[in-house]
Amino acid sequence: MSEPFIPFVKPEIDEETIAGVADVLRSGWITTGPQNQKFEAALSEFVGGRPVRTFNSGTATLEIGLRIAGVGPGDEVITTPLSWVATSNVVYEVGATPVFADIDPRTRNIDLDRVEASITARTKALIPVFLSGLPIDMDRLYAIASKYRLRVVEDAAQAFGSSWRGKRIGAFGDLVSFSFHPNKNLTSIEGGALVLNNEEEARLAEKYRLQGVTRSGFDGMEVDVLGGKYNLTDVAARVGLGQMPHLERFTARRRALAQRYFDSLRDGAAVRLGVELPVADFENCNWHMFQILLPLDRLTITRGEFMAELKERGIGSGVHYPPIHLFKLYRERGFGPGMFPHAERVGASTLTLPLFTQLSDADVDRVAAAVNEICERRAK
Ligand SMILES: *Cc1c(COP(=O)(O)O)cnc(C)c1O
Repeated sequence: MSEPFIPFVKPEIDEETIAGVADVLRSGWITTGPQNQKFEAALSEFVGGRPVRTFNSGTATLEIGLRIAGVGPGDEVITTPLSWVATSNVVYEVGATPVFADIDPRTRNIDLDRVEASITARTKALIPVFLSGLPIDMDRLYAIASKYRLRVVEDAAQAFGSSWRGKRIGAFGDLVSFSFHPNKNLTSIEGGALVLNNEEEARLAEKYRLQGVTRSGFDGMEVDVLGGKYNLTDVAARVGLGQMPHLERFTARRRALAQRYFDSLRDGAAVRLGVELPVADFENCNWHMFQILLPLDRLTITRGEFMAELKERGIGSGVHYPPIHLFKLYRERGFGPGMFPHAERVGASTLTLPLFTQLSDADVDRVAAAVNEICERRAK
């Protein structure tokens, strides 16, 4: 292959950030400290002044979000079966039980009708996921939460920079969890942030983040909650801070690339043969990923073989995600095939195409041409 390889994702880190990281390393203070304070302040400003606390992952923020919401043994938490497995693993981590509600096959996000139908006397909280950065109907979500007095921990891991009717995700609602994993729209290498409702919750988040410790004066220390070790290093926080000024450009670039995918796929062979494109939302969605659904019953190859053919053409791709309820851990807890047919169909046929800020228009055209060509050559 003479053309350069196109990965499906790649973070963009500028020289100012790299120099800033070197300064942190030389400063003598490399773990949680002044860079985290600055990062938290920048994040708080981004979400309209709500309190924000940083953590070392978007999994930690979800788990601590559930703890702050008072979720524990005996409680049920309703979430989607089509997400990164962290979304529901954290429910088990806090001793509660995940209850899945199937997705809307059009948006691929949790179906709020099914959420409402799944509420029981034990339901304590909802974890909606905004897959690929596409929000759900946030007005309806919070109407349901308030009607049934439920807490919400938004798994907005993929939705940093997304909005709902002109309001940023994170700037409203209950607890909101972001991830800054390298694949996400803004990265701190690893990391996450939890948006909280008030200073009391923020102090509780700080305790859960570091062994339940509260310090006072020069030598005072108390522990009154069982906390863990989830703090973010200043090296990581400096990377996140360096990304913040670029977020608007990142999001705009991703939207433009997604638009180009639509333009180059919409009338092509792949769509004619049954490839399904995502919802074309250029208002709310931050285009964290671009996923097509393959018409596997109309192709002579499997998804894995499709990915191998893309790779031969120098193109990386991914799968986000296999349905959670079909993993062994979940099957052993009573879930199984046939329970959430929409999530199963989407999970079995979804394919993530390359989308990142430094992807060129020509790269998108190359990927779209390859998808069209493979579909045509491998049609039944
Ligand atoms: C990335 C992700 C997480 C977990 O974030 P980490 O920072 O990797 O722990 C949780 N939920 C969703 C939907 C994600 O995409």
